[in-house]
Amino acid sequence: MTMTRPRLAVWKFASCDGCQLSLLDCEDELLAVAGAIDIANFAEASRDILPGPYDLSLVEGSITTVHDAERIQEVRRMSKYLVTIGACATAGGIQALRNFQDVKEFMAIVYASPHYISTLATSTPIADHVRVDFELRGCPINKHQLLEVIIAFLHRRRPAISAHSVCIECKLRGNPCIMVTQKIACLGPVTHAGCGAICPSYNRGCYGCYGPMESPNTESLSAWLEKLDVAAPDIARLFRSYNAAAPAFRKAGDRHE
Ligand code: SF4
Ligand code: SF4
Ligand code: SF4
Repeated sequence: MTMTRPRLAVWKFASCDGCQLSLLDCEDELLAVAGAIDIANFAEASRDILPGPYDLSLVEGSITTVHDAERIQEVRRMSKYLVTIGACATAGGIQALRNFQDVKEFMAIVYASPHYISTLATSTPIADHVRVDFELRGCPINKHQLLEVIIAFLHRRRPAISAHSVCIECKLRGNPCIMVTQKIACLGPVTHAGCGAICPSYNRGCYGCYGPMESPNTESLSAWLEKLDVAAPDIARLFRSYNAAAPAFRKAGDRHE
């Protein structure tokens, strides 16, 4: 009896490719994974594209054009499981900053002939368009978390990705809290774990590139930031960096506009 191997596809929408590079960066682990699955569609890694359906689709990037809004429907139809990877795919990415401004004005500033550009007024997460089976956060994603997600879906179990905040990782590293000891603004209390608290470990406040944690208390953190004399527009900017279209961060940013 011949066993068919699960088929993996990787898709790109509006993004910088950084999250796909995290997958390529898995090196040795990727070779082991490649022994267990068929990488059927991964344009960044191979020109050999096999037709769907696919067992697992990893989707990078946000929806910013009418064409991509249609294409993601087709990707969903071809995929048994669909997992979004990175801040662009899970929260609109840095390009969601357009959602708060006039995108036509941006186009007029950036392009010599803006009438050739066809784009939507917003950048939205994949989950705003199709059903998503799991969202992996980060800008870029953590490659070890990505491997855990791939292995979990291949074994038909839920990925073991901690939903707690960066503060927990910060404490596990034994860091003193720089918000308390140095009065540095830090989004760690509301930001999803995954980076190992890199920034506070180097005396820099977290700016939330992993997006909102589960049940983030943004009002409480905002009150702390106000006590540190962070001006309202700066608090709005903090919440609107890489995950501007994540509902919790969007609402927190709007409250300080
Ligand atoms: S989440 Fe960040 S690293 Fe990943 S594709 Fe978007 S901009 Fe690039
Ligand atoms: S420095 Fe930031 S991440 Fe670390 S404990 Fe303090 S608030 Fe949390
Ligand atoms: S900004 Fe926050 S989530 Fe991103 S790497 Fe720094 S500490 Fe981690």
